[in-house]
Amino acid sequence: METTMQNISIEKTEKTKIDQVDFDNLAFGSVFTDHMLVCDYRNGAWEVPQIMPYQAISLEPSAKIFHYGQSIFEGMKAYKDADEKIWLFRPLENHKRLNISAKRMAIPELPEEFFMDGLKQLIKLDENWIPKKEGSALYIRPFIFATGKGFHASPADEYKFIICLAPSGPYFSGKVKVLIEEKYSRSANGGVGFAKAGGNYAGQFFPTQLAVKKGYQQVIWTDDHNHEFIEEAGAMNIFVRINDTLITAPISDRILDGITRKSILPIAEDEGITTEVRKITVGEVVEAAKNGSLKEMFGAGTAAVISPIATFGYREVDYDLPELESSFASRLKKRIIDIQYNRAEDLFGWRH
Ligand code: PMP
Repeated sequence: METTMQNISIEKTEKTKIDQVDFDNLAFGSVFTDHMLVCDYRNGAWEVPQIMPYQAISLEPSAKIFHYGQSIFEGMKAYKDADEKIWLFRPLENHKRLNISAKRMAIPELPEEFFMDGLKQLIKLDENWIPKKEGSALYIRPFIFATGKGFHASPADEYKFIICLAPSGPYFSGKVKVLIEEKYSRSANGGVGFAKAGGNYAGQFFPTQLAVKKGYQQVIWTDDHNHEFIEEAGAMNIFVRINDTLITAPISDRILDGITRKSILPIAEDEGITTEVRKITVGEVVEAAKNGSLKEMFGAGTAAVISPIATFGYREVDYDLPELESSFASRLKKRIIDIQYNRAEDLFGWRH
């Protein structure tokens, strides 16, 4: 056991599992590195984090996570450049968002240094796990959940903050077929859609399963009121290109403030692309698809960066998007990835 400057105790694994991993055929988020960071909240305070071998954890059946779903998470990546330097992309934004989610779910906020120091030390320890292959990265999953016990429906008095790391290959979704959802909603005004709360994702599974049965891969979420506005694409933010204008929905109670989305906007402007942040109606997208002015639709998020949509379904009709030689999606994806992997100037100061 060693103690670091920040007093994070580090217990190293006796035997690495790295030789069991096929780095050429990595799926997304399904193998985990040798270590994890664990930090407990007890007696009204976050305790000093510990780094330890990746292992199962034990909880009481009455832990509130199991009953009331007090659980939030983040998703981010670490990249290795050609000189083996390690980079994070806008990590402070993830920390800020974790605390926004925490506040909404009545979970105690986590100090920035616990997040950043813990993250850096954990990644440094498992740095050999960062894939070097083009398109691969180390996916980072920080999360907090209620470990405090009791069936009383009230916030727990104890929590765990954990960070696990998963070397991940390219998120090959290819071009996807999506269904504009008019019955189910992922979020509502005054609800928790803007938080990365575990239950938001559980609530998406069933409507997504129904869409999959109909031959679609993902659901396009619309507003809960009249299902009139296009809001998100699965677990990604959505962009629509009509003629040469790139449009995305404004952040609200119902929409997650995605870091990829808010990086695409200034990059697009820098590329000379006109952007609009405004409500997008289903009607205008269907009309644009009919008259040929709908050029592109894509989802934006950490895992896939940009995921182009090939077809969308609406009220039993499928609308195909054109195949473009040089799409905004491919231009913007390249710009972001080049910044993430330290191959392009960091115009906006996003690399860490
Ligand atoms: N919307 C939702 C609902 C998400 O879960 C995610 C993934 N975190 C995003 C958007 C994209 O966010 P980011 O670009 O920060 O990954």
